[in-house]
Amino acid sequence: MNRLPISNRDNELLAMPPIDGQFPVTFDDGTVWTAVNGACRGCGIEFGREAMHGAVWRSMPGVAEVEAVALCHPCHLLTRFRFRLHPYRRLSWHSGAGWVQGYAPLSWLARLRRCGRAILHSIHHLTSRQDRS
Ligand SMILES: [Zn+2]
Repeated sequence: MNRLPISNRDNELLAMPPIDGQFPVTFDDGTVWTAVNGACRGCGIEFGREAMHGAVWRSMPGVAEVEAVALCHPCHLLTRFRFRLHPYRRLSWHSGAGWVQGYAPLSWLARLRRCGRAILHSIHHLTSRQDRS
């Protein structure tokens, strides 16, 4: 199994609190990302919600950028996650060829799980949410 060396950035992210504390991520259209969860790129086991450390940035309207890492102890392997959450259940992530995007109905989650990248689940889209502001 190939192991990438742990970078300074990885160590910075590992020192951050679990990203779970920064959810839910909500958008004005009513999209609510309640949580994200990733899987080990080695064994595929899902990390617990407390195991992914990193940050969620809301630097622009309509974008929440997630950068996180998680360690799988049985594999001694670090998995990196970098993706963006958007309104309308849209998400995008960086592949080798650039940013790829998709939407997050259940079928997408299954495909993401298979591709072993940013794996998201526990996502709910609350279309009935009303903004009363
Ligand atoms: Zn593993």
